[in-house]
Amino acid sequence: MAKIVAIANQKGGVGKTTTAVNLSSCVAALGKKTLIVDLDPQGNTTTGYGIPKRSVDVGTYELLIGEAEAKDAIRKTEFRTDVIGSNTRLAGAGLEMIDLPGRESRLRKALASVQKDYDFIFVDCPPSLDLLTLNGLCACDSVLIPIQCEYYALEGLSELISTLKTIRKKYNPYLDIEGVVFTMFSGRFNLTLQVVDQVKKYFGAKVYKTTIPRTIRISEAPSYGQPINFYEPKGKGSEAYMDLAIEFVKNNRPHEPARRRTKGNS
Ligand code: ADP
Ligand code: MG
Repeated sequence: MAKIVAIANQKGGVGKTTTAVNLSSCVAALGKKTLIVDLDPQGNTTTGYGIPKRSVDVGTYELLIGEAEAKDAIRKTEFRTDVIGSNTRLAGAGLEMIDLPGRESRLRKALASVQKDYDFIFVDCPPSLDLLTLNGLCACDSVLIPIQCEYYALEGLSELISTLKTIRKKYNPYLDIEGVVFTMFSGRFNLTLQVVDQVKKYFGAKVYKTTIPRTIRISEAPSYGQPINFYEPKGKGSEAYMDLAIEFVKNNRPHEPARRRTKGNS
C-alpha cells in the first residue's frame, strides 16, 4: 500500500514542483514503485516528466470531478515514475467540486484503487490553500514542505502550520509532517543561515539533513522534460536529490502509512 505524500507550501516559487519531480524520480531510482500526481493547473510536474500539457486528456481534473478512474489517468514514463498529469483545465475543478459530494476527499477516494500498486504516491500541490490543495492534504498520509532559504520564507509558514492543524482537526487526523527540505540553498549568506536556524527551532528533527543547492542544471532540466537524475546524473543537483531520496526512504522504513497505524503506535 502506497504512502501518499503531498508536497505543499502555499508560497509560490519555493521549489515544490522541482522537489516533486526530482524526489519522486530519485525514489523510483532506488527501486520504489512511484506515482506522482500533478495537482497544479500550471502542469509543471507534467512537463517536467516530458509530457506535453495539451496531451493530457485524462488527468487530475477528470479524477477529481469523477469523469475517470485513476488507472485510466496514469501515464507511464521512461523515468520509472508514473504520472497523473494536469493542465489549465484543472483550474476549473475547484469551482466544479464545490457542489460535488465529499468535495475535500475526492482525490483520496480516486487514488484508493491504485494505492496497492505503488510504494509511494507524491502529490504536487499548487501555491495556494484552496480546494485543490485541501484535496491534496486530505488525501495524504504526510506532507513534505520545501522551504526556500530567504527572508520571506518564514512568512506564510505559520499560516501553513495553522492550516495543517485545521485539517487534522476536521478531515485528516493522522496527517503527519514528512519533513522540511531547504531548497535553492547557498550557504554562504548570513541570512540563509538565520532562516535555517529559525526553521530548525520550529521543526527540529523533521528538517532533512540534505539541502538542495541552487544550480543552473536543476532549473534547466524541466525544459528538457527530464528529472535531474536523468538530465545530469553525475551533477551536484542530482547528487542532492538522490541524497534526499535516500533520507526519505530511510525515514519510511519499515514503511507503514500513518493512517493505518493503530492508536498508541504512532
Ligand atoms: P513551486 O512549485 O514551489 O512554485 P518551482 O519548483 O516551480 O516552485 O521552482 C520555482 C523556480 O525556481 C523554477 O524556475 C525552478 O526552476 C527554480 N528552482 C527550483 N529549485 C531550484 C534549484 N535548486 N536551483 C535552481 N533553480 C531552482
Ligand atoms: Mg509548482
